[in-house]
Amino acid sequence: MERMSVNMIRAVAIASAVLVLPSSAVWTPTNLAPCTSRPALLRDWRDSTPWPTASDSVLREKLAPYRNRVSFDPFDSVIVGDAATRARLNEGVLWEDDSVIVIVAKPPLPRDALVVPKREMMFPVDASPWLMDKLSRVAAATSDAFIATAGRACSRALVSKISINPPDIIRVRHLHVHVQPPDSIAITGENEFYARMSQRLREALSIRP
Ligand SMILES: [Zn+2]
Repeated sequence: MERMSVNMIRAVAIASAVLVLPSSAVWTPTNLAPCTSRPALLRDWRDSTPWPTASDSVLREKLAPYRNRVSFDPFDSVIVGDAATRARLNEGVLWEDDSVIVIVAKPPLPRDALVVPKREMMFPVDASPWLMDKLSRVAAATSDAFIATAGRACSRALVSKISINPPDIIRVRHLHVHVQPPDSIAITGENEFYARMSQRLREALSIRP
């Protein structure tokens, strides 16, 4: 009887915990054997700026003049577009959920996939730690999906380049992470490759269809 009570309390506690989670927190990566280490996106990006050791507040001040320099934003139409719009725009969406979308870069050479937060933001310091963590997880899974879809096994020789461009060279104002697959990976039959890659990403990242 006592044990049952404890179990019941546990069950109630677990159910309560699930119920109070915001929907965005239910996102659960299920990739059990990742090839790609999660990139330290924020640290690497900071190191690529002229102010790698600046505090967040100083960094925001330094970035202020950059915010009006770039207006091009090709992602919003993809993010809000329905399937027909995306098809018309010839956009390859590999995966998405409420907060992040993964698309094939245009032009697709050097074959990057782009991991993009759906909310409008320009620099990593505009994103929450939770979102940066998620972008990192999704980017690593995208790298894994490139490797697996190409039929390659995990290997130290297969390393994707995962990065956020520094403020000096960005040409798109909406924050995005480049995932450039290893050079040795061959992408033949792009449509079919990306369809299979998309399926792998869905399996790895989300239980949602
Ligand atoms: Zn945007």
